[in-house]
Amino acid sequence: MAAASLEVRALSVGYGPVRALRDVTIDVPEGAIVAVLGGNGAGKSTLLRAISRTLGFQGGHVTSGSVRFDDRPLDGLSATRVVAAGVVQVPEGRQVFARMTVADNLRAGALGATGGRRSSAEALARVHELFPLLADRAHQRAGLLSGGEQQMLAMGRALMAGPRLLLLDEPSLGLAPLMAARIAETVQEINAAGTSVLLVEQNAAIALRLASTAYVLDVGEVALSGTADELASSDEVRRRYLGVVDEDAAADASRAQAAAPTLTRWSA
Ligand code: ATP
Repeated sequence: MAAASLEVRALSVGYGPVRALRDVTIDVPEGAIVAVLGGNGAGKSTLLRAISRTLGFQGGHVTSGSVRFDDRPLDGLSATRVVAAGVVQVPEGRQVFARMTVADNLRAGALGATGGRRSSAEALARVHELFPLLADRAHQRAGLLSGGEQQMLAMGRALMAGPRLLLLDEPSLGLAPLMAARIAETVQEINAAGTSVLLVEQNAAIALRLASTAYVLDVGEVALSGTADELASSDEVRRRYLGVVDEDAAADASRAQAAAPTLTRWSA
């Protein structure tokens, strides 16, 4: 296996007295898509914030552990320096600048880049290739875009900084299935062009289709990890995250229902 380009080791995080992560260890090998699954409040966003060094903006702090990218510690860097090191986060909830145009949002994304004007023109051409709609709507206010289009803009803005590792926080959240599938395809294209991806998702079906390996967070701890195929066939993941019903339990329930007296349906 290739050397791990992101190494999170025994990371613990708190928000004041609240412990949000405990001893979390994960690897994102260079060129991989790695998924982190988990229910509400499991600590997924906290993990991404700790890596991107944006925890402080939310009142959180790392209490122990370390984060290294390409064998250099990210601990102690400012959020801007992390972007310059090539690690860029797309936060949950597509936080675009609603009153700014699409073009200005993308320009803002290039501010953290270190490659100069030429590379920012190349990045813009690449973003327009991935998301032609962002070229068509360049002069429209970002707040007028649909949810899916805003997700495209949030991802496009992150790509303007030329990331080597993209941290994606629930890109499919609240999107219709077709749009979620479209976003998933684009994540694959971005990865195929050489960017590693750490993907946080509640939608386990999408995440396990995209990722090579995955981790399941439960109340701030890594409860399960393995290849995406292993996790997709694990009973616990199927039941809790893929909505697959335990067949024996379903058969028992349906037998019990058949034996129950027929309910009277009241009509008006
Ligand atoms: P979701 O899928 O609902 O976004 P999550 O897995 O991303 O959940 P986090 O948002 O990382 O979970 O939250 C982990 C824990 O930390 C939760 O108990 C949450 O209440 C707490 N938490 C998150 N942000 C803060 C904050 N700014 N201040 C205090 N507690 C917080």
